[in-house]
Amino acid sequence: CGIVGYVGSQEPNGRPLEVVLEGLRRLEYRGYDSAGIAITGTADSTVAVAKKSGKLANLVEVLDASPLPAGTAAIGHTRWATHGGPTDANAHPHVVGDLAVIHNGIIENFAQLKAALAADGAAFQSETDTEVVAHLLHRAHLELGDLTAAMLSVVGRLHGTFTLLAVHASAPDTVVGARHDSPLVVGIGEGENFLGSDVAAFIAHTKEALELGQDQVVTITPTTVEVTDFAGNAVEARRFTVDWDA
Ligand code: GLU
Repeated sequence: CGIVGYVGSQEPNGRPLEVVLEGLRRLEYRGYDSAGIAITGTADSTVAVAKKSGKLANLVEVLDASPLPAGTAAIGHTRWATHGGPTDANAHPHVVGDLAVIHNGIIENFAQLKAALAADGAAFQSETDTEVVAHLLHRAHLELGDLTAAMLSVVGRLHGTFTLLAVHASAPDTVVGARHDSPLVVGIGEGENFLGSDVAAFIAHTKEALELGQDQVVTITPTTVEVTDFAGNAVEARRFTVDWDA
C-alpha cells in the first residue's frame, strides 16, 4: 500500500534504513497490515531483509532485536493484503536469491505464472501474487545481468496493476521501479535519490520531484535518474516542486 526507495552514499551507512522507515511512517495514514524493508550495498554484499505483520512498530521491534547491516540502498513497503493473509511470510519484500522486490497492486495472471514457474522448479515461500514477480525478475537478471533490463523484460508479462521496486545485491547503487495503473514518483536529492508511491515518502528530504507516466520504468543511482517506457525508449518525466511543508 505504501512504497519507499532510497539510494545514497557508496559507503555502507545507516541512512537507507533511516530514510525508508521515515518514509513508511509518513505513508502509514493510508492503512496497512504488514511492513518490511530490504537493504543492499552491505559490507558482505548481501540483500538483507526484515519484515513483520502488523504495525510498523512491530517491524521496528524486529530491527531492534536483530539490526540489519548498514548499506547504500533500501526499499520499504507497507502491505494491504489482497492475495494471502497478513502473515510475516506474505509481507514484502519478497526475495529470490540476491533479488528483493516490493509491490503495490494486484498481478491478475499470477496463478498461470506461478504454475509455470513451479513446473520449472521455483520454490514459493508465500501465498502472494507478488512472489511470482520476484522469481521472474531473478530469472531475467540471471539471463541479462542487469536489473533494469530484467525489469523491462518482465513488466510485459504482468497483467493487473502494479508499482514495483526491486534491488539486487550485485547492483548496490541502484533501485529500479516500474508503474502500471498505480502511482510512482521520484524524489531528486544531492548525491542521493528517492522513490515513493506518494511524495510523502520523501518530503522530509527533498521537494524536487519527477512524476512518472503510465507504463514507465525508472532506474535511480545516487547521481542519476533514467526513465524509459516499457519498450526501453528514454522518456522525459515531468519535473515539479512539492509545494506543501513537511
Ligand atoms: N497484491 C499484493 C499482496 O497482496 C500487494 C498488496 C499491496 O498493494 O500492498 O501482497
